[in-house]
Amino acid sequence: MTILFNGNRFKYEMENVARLFFPLQHFQFQYDTTEFPSDDFLAFFREEYETEAELTVTVQQGDYFRQEKSQVSFSEAEYENECEAEFARMLYRILEELTGVHPRWGILTGIRPVHRIQHGLDSGKSRREINEEFSSRFYVSEEKIRLSNLIFDQQAPVIESISPKDFSLYVSIPYCPSRCSYCSFVSHSITQQKAKKLIPEYLNYLVKEINFTSEIARDCGLRLRSIYIGGGTPTVLEPEQLAQITDCVKNAFTLIPEVEYTIEAGRADTITQQKLDVIRNAGAGRISINPQTFEDGVLRAVGRNHTANQVVECYEMARATGFDCINMDLIAGLPTDTPDGFARSLQRAIFLQPENITVHALSVKRAADLYATMDGSEDYRAVQQMVDFSGNELPQNGYLPYYLYRQKNTLGNLENVGYAKPGYIGLYNIFIMEEVQHILAVGAGAVSKVVRPGRIDRFFNFKYPYEYISGFSDILERKNALRNLLKEV
Ligand code: SF4
Repeated sequence: MTILFNGNRFKYEMENVARLFFPLQHFQFQYDTTEFPSDDFLAFFREEYETEAELTVTVQQGDYFRQEKSQVSFSEAEYENECEAEFARMLYRILEELTGVHPRWGILTGIRPVHRIQHGLDSGKSRREINEEFSSRFYVSEEKIRLSNLIFDQQAPVIESISPKDFSLYVSIPYCPSRCSYCSFVSHSITQQKAKKLIPEYLNYLVKEINFTSEIARDCGLRLRSIYIGGGTPTVLEPEQLAQITDCVKNAFTLIPEVEYTIEAGRADTITQQKLDVIRNAGAGRISINPQTFEDGVLRAVGRNHTANQVVECYEMARATGFDCINMDLIAGLPTDTPDGFARSLQRAIFLQPENITVHALSVKRAADLYATMDGSEDYRAVQQMVDFSGNELPQNGYLPYYLYRQKNTLGNLENVGYAKPGYIGLYNIFIMEEVQHILAVGAGAVSKVVRPGRIDRFFNFKYPYEYISGFSDILERKNALRNLLKEV
């Protein structure tokens, strides 16, 4: 499909809105043309007159042809933004009619819709006005407006408790036992001997970076609020290797009980009693055991080498080891899954009663192996049904939503939502997703953030373990730059 622009270049936003309806479509772009092509196209023309601009959106797909026009006055305070938004709204209305699809978040394509509530409040609007804007300007559904407000209220006391000197530590273990077909992270399967051989050296460097980071934290007078060891799958490490990292963290930082400490156990095919003991002895109170689905056929289809029963066994082992805060991740939209299958998975998770359940909408990034094999439109409705089901079922069972974020290219432009039983909110998830606190991140692919009012500075580590090792001196230099910035905070 071709997308044409004349008198404007709002490519980014128009493509995003078009993708809500045609997630897998390949688009070509043409600028400054007034000629419509003979095949399918979307066209955005802006003509400026004396006091206002006339905007025209034209859509042709097969036999369907539709055109909408609108005017935007030059006196609009944010004229360019208003033109862009008006184009987006017209396109949205036309594509809704053409496809019969009604994306729940309307034209809001950003990652953190809940942020808009805070921005609105900061600019003096009332909650009612903000909600009205969600609905009339952005076409957000009632149910998502409710969800955003609920999450905002859950987060507010946590965010208010943050002081400018607070930080969280993130430790990256970018290895997994095998690669899931839907994964878009940089994670290395240890089935590849080359990747596996590098782990001991990687961990030695990681220890150095953890120690260096603790010096920075001390030097800058920072207060540790939470630790998250994630990946990948940290429990893919041998127990001694895992202990090498957790011992290092324990020695480098002061782990008072107020510090929230999470280790992602992740996949059932990596969890053993010995590793759970290492995690427990490290002082970590929270773990994730992630089924993704309890349907064995779906687990096989996505390349996970374990069964649903193994997940349950690991969960019971973790309970017996004394873990009283367990998270389970589920994914809506996995290949071969169905709304019924997803409903069974969710109900099984609820039956097990973990303290947290996180529901992700499958992200179909280009890197994932299955990208080329999916049928966007059919999957769209099924995923929406799954996410809707979890949005009703979990609150009815005592789980409240407390954080939300969206990824680009998520099926149905849907969201990932973390639900928790009262008293079990994961602070780190709020800190990282809402970008409200400094994150000192270590390891390959890790991104540190220095958060100041109206500004976030990011410091990137190299993505791959081999680069991380060979470029380690660069990483320390970047950390020194981060130190200098943090001293000013
Ligand atoms: S376990 Fe997670 S990080 Fe690892 S391959 Fe699967 S989806 Fe990716």
